[in-house]
Amino acid sequence: MNSKIKEAVKLLDQGGLVAFPTETVYGLGADATNDTATASIYEKKGRPSFNPLIAHVDSTAMASKYVQITPVAQKLMDTFWPGPLTLVLKRKTDCTVSLLASAGLDTLAVRCPNNPIALELIRAFGKPIVAPSANKSGRISPTTPEHIIQDYGDEAPFILDGGACQVGVESTVLLCDEDKVAVLRYGGLPIEDIESLIGPVIRPERDEDAPHSPGQIKSHYAPHLPLRMNAAKASQGEALLGFGHSPAATLNLSPTGDLKQAAANLFSMMHQLDCDKYTGIAVMPIPMRGLGYAINDRLKRASQPREK
Ligand code: AMP
Ligand code: MG
Repeated sequence: MNSKIKEAVKLLDQGGLVAFPTETVYGLGADATNDTATASIYEKKGRPSFNPLIAHVDSTAMASKYVQITPVAQKLMDTFWPGPLTLVLKRKTDCTVSLLASAGLDTLAVRCPNNPIALELIRAFGKPIVAPSANKSGRISPTTPEHIIQDYGDEAPFILDGGACQVGVESTVLLCDEDKVAVLRYGGLPIEDIESLIGPVIRPERDEDAPHSPGQIKSHYAPHLPLRMNAAKASQGEALLGFGHSPAATLNLSPTGDLKQAAANLFSMMHQLDCDKYTGIAVMPIPMRGLGYAINDRLKRASQPREK
């Protein structure tokens, strides 16, 4: 076993925290079965404690020890795991994952990340690792180790370095009940891919009664600077975050208009533009299809006034 992984496993065993790469963003992980360790994630992030966490597993077999896997969930796992898909399922009655990770609900979110370092870590640890994104609460999600160090400075946690994340936005979150599947959060796996496997799912923008994910505060992912969406051009002092052909762009999410590339660059470019060189960030329109749902969701949150 790699010595860094060994060190990380030792830290987790002692109830400590480990930042690790996934294909979506960097996570701040703790032993999912240790209440105190789980609590220290909220403390470290300064996160409001009502927001449940995702338990990261190395396989469907590991997930099945803790949650009840419905036939539809099994199909989704078989097709999209490892990958950027989180499933919210009923906890088993003997589930030993900290109740804090479920924020008082009888469900638990599980995901198998598609990153060799994350998988090796979970496998070596032998138990699920609960982890939110490794940023401080309300800040932009980290897609490189440097982003974590920027947020925490001297207080930075132990970090397993896996370079830049491939997908760059958080996972798609689906609630899987016995009889319904509902989108709780748009993310790295396009809903179109999910619907082509299992048929139509309940979507928040189409169904008033769609279930809400707890703790999805509007002002998540906020940069320090004000952010303006659907901008044709930048105003005086603003940086322009481009999409598609744009000679005027300060930085461009994807000059060719590729949504996958845009998702991978989103948080990293927001980090780069969020500095005192500019008075604000203007973002060009991003089409609503595929990963565009997740990108627009994160931009919308980043453009809201901060909630305390
Ligand atoms: P993050 O940890 O920042 O990637 O966010 C995890 C997302 O999953 C949040 O939007 C949570 O609200 C959602 N989530 C996690 N667990 C549950 C659960 N048991 N029920 C509903 N949503 C959940
Ligand atoms: Mg987060």
